Amino acid sequence: EQRVTRQLILQERVRATLATRDVNTHKGGAGKALVLGGSSAMTGAPIMTTKSCLRSGAGLVTMAVPESIHHVVTQHVIESMFASLKDDQGEILNEALKQINWAEFDGIALGPGMGRKHRLSLFEQFKDIQSYLVIDADGLYHLQKELASWRGEHRLGPTIITPHSGEMARLTGCSVEEIETHRFSISKAFAKDYNMYVVLKGPHTIVTTPSGKQWVNTTGNASLAKGGTGDMLTGMILGFLLQHQKIEDALCNAVYVHGKAADHLLETHDIFSVNATDLISVLPKVLKSLR
Ligand code: AMP
Ligand code: MG
Repeated sequence: EQRVTRQLILQERVRATLATRDVNTHKGGAGKALVLGGSSAMTGAPIMTTKSCLRSGAGLVTMAVPESIHHVVTQHVIESMFASLKDDQGEILNEALKQINWAEFDGIALGPGMGRKHRLSLFEQFKDIQSYLVIDADGLYHLQKELASWRGEHRLGPTIITPHSGEMARLTGCSVEEIETHRFSISKAFAKDYNMYVVLKGPHTIVTTPSGKQWVNTTGNASLAKGGTGDMLTGMILGFLLQHQKIEDALCNAVYVHGKAADHLLETHDIFSVNATDLISVLPKVLKSLR
């Protein structure tokens, strides 16, 4: 009785749905993004997310990081703005989140390199905010700690999670093996129960909407099995969400382009030698080829 609502993400779909830009666009109208993350142990993750977001159409990007790494991140990104948050042991404190006026941003990505030392109250912070909220990496750890508050709830804005199998296992209480065997059904149940968009990463990433529509990515390769590639995807998703009308198009197009960038790199790079930051350098070309 269950209707099959699964489709492959193929190039024709991406070409047909890739967002365009109006001639009169100004930077504010092109989307204000916030990347929240980083810690003294992981300074690179939010930098990579910010860089890929800037290459994916966002008009204005702000990085919010712990104050103890502020001096490091500002040296690596010159196109973004910065907010430095009160920290302890190199990680953002929950009380510091109250410093930020979330409603100023059209989209927020939370988690890359954030660390797990302090409990963060995400639901309390974001439930009444209309902005897109993308939760990745350590953000998913904090989400899991308060998951009961999210169940059946509706944030004012759309929530997108981007777990790999291990993170999805932690979120659902299943084993990694169970996740890998039932990727479609587990994504679908979670998306419905928590009213979230789920991007379950891995070879053949699956995008699921809260209403249960699913897409499977057809690009990407094992060169992506390396630290930082997920942080890049998060930035692309954030940038694309601010450009596309439909959330599902933003998500499908981001995972496709991310994988396509890795495929493009294999034409010149050995499979061992693709680094996450290489994805940023080919992203302009890959996007251009899809116009
Ligand atoms: P993360 O696990 O957060 O670092 O994200 C890794 C990224 O690389 C995701 O977008 C995955 O879909 C992708 N990825 C990792 N391993 C592979 C693989 N063996 N084949 C294709 N894509 C992969
Ligand atoms: Mg990751």
